[in-house]
Amino acid sequence: MDRPKVKKWEAPKSVREFPLGSTCPSDHLTSINAGWRTFKPVIDHDKCVNCLRCFLVCPDGAIDKSGERLEIDYDYCKGCGICATECKLGAIEMVKEVK
Ligand code: SF4
Ligand code: SF4
Repeated sequence: MDRPKVKKWEAPKSVREFPLGSTCPSDHLTSINAGWRTFKPVIDHDKCVNCLRCFLVCPDGAIDKSGERLEIDYDYCKGCGICATECKLGAIEMVKEVK
C-alpha cells in the first residue's frame, strides 16, 4: 500500500479546495505509530462480508483491500475503533494490545 508523505501545508485559495468529510485527509499518519495504541482491531473473516464500510470510514487508510481479504496495516492503525463501531455485522473486535 502506498503510504503518505509529509507535505507542506498551504492555505486553501478557494472554497473548492477545502476538504469534504473528515477534517483531515485519509492517510494522515505519515510514519508508523510508536507503540502508543492500546487496542487493536481484529477482523473475523468468517463474519466479514467485504462490504468495505470499515475501509471507507478508517481515518488513516489503515485497512488494505488490495488482497483477497481485508487486512489491517498495524503500522498505521491508531486503534481508534471507528471501524469496529461501524461494522454492522460485528466482524471487527477491538482487542487489548499485549506488550
Ligand atoms: S465493515 Fe465489517 S463486514 Fe464490512 S468489510 Fe469491514 S469488517 Fe467486513
Ligand atoms: S482502529 Fe481506527 S485507525 Fe485502526 S483500522 Fe480501525 S478505523 Fe482505522
